[in-house]
Amino acid sequence: MAQPSGGGSVKIRADIAELLHAGLSDRAISRQLQLRTSRIRAAREILGLPPHRPGPTPAATPEDLFWRRAVPTDDGHLLWPGATQGSGARIRHGQERYSPYRIAFRLRYGREPVGKVTSGCTHAGCVAPDHVEDRPMREQYAAIFGGAQ
Ligand SMILES: [Zn+2]
Repeated sequence: MAQPSGGGSVKIRADIAELLHAGLSDRAISRQLQLRTSRIRAAREILGLPPHRPGPTPAATPEDLFWRRAVPTDDGHLLWPGATQGSGARIRHGQERYSPYRIAFRLRYGREPVGKVTSGCTHAGCVAPDHVEDRPMREQYAAIFGGAQ
């Protein structure tokens, strides 16, 4: 469908608006969606949302830290620096440490994972929320597709 151009209204992508309303920083959103921060900032202004406090924000959520550090690949994965070396990858937030896999899982499914969370795709160390799975999901896939038995 052709977009009318030159009209008075400005269209904001739904995914940008959703993340802005979720309270993520411009930088976190630009990283997640692979867009320029200037574009996110413009959308924030149009929506009338207050600017995200710039600079280091100690009160940033673990989810915010997740998006800041995760590295998107060209083919749709999200890599966690160091995650391929084992399960030592952690997000430090205040006194707590979080597994980026578990954060990715909660972002996608809105619940706590059961058991260990691993990459469900072929990319080792991938923490893309759409690609991670917990133990019940692995068991379910094995039941459907047949595990090697
Ligand atoms: Zn992946």
